[in-house]
Amino acid sequence: MEKYICPVCGYHGLAENPGPDPKYWGSHEICPSCGWQFGYNNPNGLLQYRALWVEAGANWFIPEKQPRDWRLASQLANIGLTVQDVLQPAKAA
Ligand SMILES: [Zn+2]
Repeated sequence: MEKYICPVCGYHGLAENPGPDPKYWGSHEICPSCGWQFGYNNPNGLLQYRALWVEAGANWFIPEKQPRDWRLASQLANIGLTVQDVLQPAKAA
């Protein structure tokens, strides 16, 4: 089964492709890593959501899904971001 990358946190394991345009994200899938729900959370708040998630320690929404050797930096690299980018969303934009 193909897996998709969460555009919010970079987690590579979503069952559904949220699609390229945040306006049309609507799978209703909840990312087990960052907890974003596609079609429920407002994409306008994405940068802030991501920053708060990282700031709070990037805790997994479903902790049992967290791989043992998980690294936040490698996950964010899937969406071309660094931890620093995330914590300074204004500068990264
Ligand atoms: Zn996510």
